[in-house]
Amino acid sequence: MTYDPSNIFAKILRGEIPSHRVYEDDAVVVFMDVMPQGPGHTLVVPKAPSRNLLDADPAALGPLFTVVQKVAMAVKKAFGADGVTILQFNEPASGQTVYHLHVHVIPRFEGIALKPHTGQMEKPEVLAENAGKIRAVLNG
Ligand code: 5GP
Repeated sequence: MTYDPSNIFAKILRGEIPSHRVYEDDAVVVFMDVMPQGPGHTLVVPKAPSRNLLDADPAALGPLFTVVQKVAMAVKKAFGADGVTILQFNEPASGQTVYHLHVHVIPRFEGIALKPHTGQMEKPEVLAENAGKIRAVLNG
């Protein structure tokens, strides 16, 4: 299995299609998942190309998970969440649907189950509002 640069996240990283961005640095971009499993579901995406964790350069993982932690803390505060779920899928058998490494960061609330993976599209205005809440915490 090789990396295909026409995947949707590569297009988002290149700015060819829009996303609701919350954070960017030299190594990582963070944007809202368009089919969130809960309010504030974000995706942390390294700029370095790899299909998933299995073919990633280990040197990319430190910067990636530094941002995962930063975003986990930010979404917990932004949404008043009780906890945060981190998900990461590798190859179709695991449930991976987009073949550029990414980590899901999902605020969690006591007694509320996750919605299905790649379920319903969220309204753009809701995604924009939620991105704004996370940016406000990160920049605050
Ligand atoms: P995977 O199944 O590969 O772990 O997760 C891919 C995620 O990307 C899914 O949660 C899905 O909702 C999300 N997704 C799919 N297409 C797009 C898109 O065009 N833009 C954004 N922001 N998220 C997407």
